[in-house]
Amino acid sequence: MLTVQDAETRIATLVQEILNSPKGSVTEIDLTNSIGRVLAQTVASPLDFPHWDNSAMDGYAVRAGDIASANSDNPAVLPVVMEVAAGQVPERSLHPGEAARIFTGAIVPEGADCIVMQENTAVVEAHSETTPAVQILQTVEPGNFIRKKASFHQAGQTLLEPGIRLQAPEIAVLAAAQVAQLAVFAQPNVGLLSTGNELVDIDQPLGKGQIVDSNGYALAAAVKASGAIAHPLKRLRDDREALKGAIAAVQSNPNLDVLLSTGGVSVGDYDYVDEVLKELGATLHIHAVAVKPGKPLTVATLPRPNADGPPLLYFGLPGNPVSALVSFWRFVQPALRQMSGLQAWQPQFVKAIAETELRSGGKRETYLWGNLHWEDDGYRFAKAGGSHSSGNLINLAGTNGLAKLSVGTKAIAAGELVEILVPHIPR
Ligand code: AMP
Ligand code: MG
Repeated sequence: MLTVQDAETRIATLVQEILNSPKGSVTEIDLTNSIGRVLAQTVASPLDFPHWDNSAMDGYAVRAGDIASANSDNPAVLPVVMEVAAGQVPERSLHPGEAARIFTGAIVPEGADCIVMQENTAVVEAHSETTPAVQILQTVEPGNFIRKKASFHQAGQTLLEPGIRLQAPEIAVLAAAQVAQLAVFAQPNVGLLSTGNELVDIDQPLGKGQIVDSNGYALAAAVKASGAIAHPLKRLRDDREALKGAIAAVQSNPNLDVLLSTGGVSVGDYDYVDEVLKELGATLHIHAVAVKPGKPLTVATLPRPNADGPPLLYFGLPGNPVSALVSFWRFVQPALRQMSGLQAWQPQFVKAIAETELRSGGKRETYLWGNLHWEDDGYRFAKAGGSHSSGNLINLAGTNGLAKLSVGTKAIAAGELVEILVPHIPR
């Protein structure tokens, strides 16, 4: 039985080998369809940001020297010689003793070196018939409220690096840099296989001894939430040959990168996953991990009999609903994130104060589910009430964290810090 660390390292190494083998894993897409995808190219912009010196405020562009002694009792009165709105080019440069009406985002005219915001001015009688005037009620430092050309970003420098998930801010940057098409990593395609004589579909009347294949639904959701594409396959009875046929079909389907099965990986009479894998030429990398829930975990790679390309990565997850999801979050989700091209694919842990005592047998790395919430003194973890049986899917619902008790730790007292695995990583 491997430690969690060793299992994690083995899986990461396997995924890296798969990523190193050549495959068309990058696609070109439109920016409008890029939400949640992982950038596969370096983006540099030919543009400076801002593109020109522009005003951060609605107000007046002036020379700081002209208003150096202004205050509300003794305002500086300046003629307003032009107006610049966003999108306009200033008619001319500003001469000493002049002001220009200016609006947020508008180009600062040559000669002006600061902006006085509107709130610190007063409109006064016209300077002349054609030229209005403004009272400046406050001094302003040179440079104030001017967003200098290239002060956010210089042309030619890298804007975005590969390996980041594209969210609204990155999409804004790409749009501003006029990147309408971009290269993203292909999403991993994940086949899902549920095995068990007792399983029925969601809309079937339940006979005695039967349960709904809830893992099929849960894992499809978890795969999607991890940024990969779920391909539910035909559910199987506990039948050796049927299982072998189903795995073989995925093995020779180059469109599926990963196969997840649930059920049948422990040592019961109906558990033949490992045997069948060996018959199909698989290399078995992991058979069991010292983790609770989720001890029986098979990780294997299967060669592609009739095709080039990387092997099929296979995870045989336990059938118990909590075990299946915890194994997914701890081992499969990081692998899928790594395969998606994400730089930050590692599982996320935060430290929280345990609100109640947390207990474990101490022999396996143990995860207890519950609620992670934020208070003034930091994160707190409240263990879910009810049974922490790996078969109890009911009280897993509504939780958002898994407290980790390392091997050798039998208890963490209330008030002590505990590491929490965060399963729902924002995409
Ligand atoms: P197994 O790993 O096949 O021995 O299954 C362990 C437990 O998980 C049994 O109680 C199964 O009924 C249950 N189980 C197996 N597969 C599923 C599934 N797809 N959905 C819900 N429960 C399952
Ligand atoms: Mg079973």
